[in-house]
Amino acid sequence: MKVFRTSSPEETRKLGERLGSLIAPGGIVLLEGDLGAGKTTLAKGLAEGLGVGDGNLVHSPTFSLVNEYPGATGTVYHVDLYRLQGRDEQYSAGLTDVLDSGSVVIIEWGGRLELPVEDPITIGISSPGDEERRFEVRGMDERFKRPDSV
Ligand code: ADP
Ligand code: MG
Repeated sequence: MKVFRTSSPEETRKLGERLGSLIAPGGIVLLEGDLGAGKTTLAKGLAEGLGVGDGNLVHSPTFSLVNEYPGATGTVYHVDLYRLQGRDEQYSAGLTDVLDSGSVVIIEWGGRLELPVEDPITIGISSPGDEERRFEVRGMDERFKRPDSV
């Protein structure tokens, strides 16, 4: 596990960008943390690091459930499970295909995923202070291109 800390949304975006540039194809990223933890902010950075054009990942997928973006090295999916609870709902939403697509998938409320995933990257976010955020990153060895370079 690796721990990172940020003290502004911009720093979180930059952390995401750095991590995103290291994610290998097919990497599944589970973002865990309460409302306002910074999951969407980090997801935007991750997408930028994966080559999704700057500012393209504008919308939180809370209502559309699954958003799809063209990245530099393939499609990037951004999923929000807040309203997709339970295995049947997740399956019906087509999430199985998304997970099996070989594309990078970034999942908010990742702890609610009830479909099987092999070796996910999990990023747990907590907020020890107003603008402070703490990120616990697990699974880097399996799904990052260069495990020791972050
Ligand atoms: P989530 O998707 O987890 O609900 P968002 O990324 O949408 O979270 O929102 C995070 C909120 O927290 C934003 O209002 C943002 O301005 C605020 N914030 C304050 N400090 C930080 C930080 N260090 N990193 C990320 N967001 C922060
Ligand atoms: Mg969000």
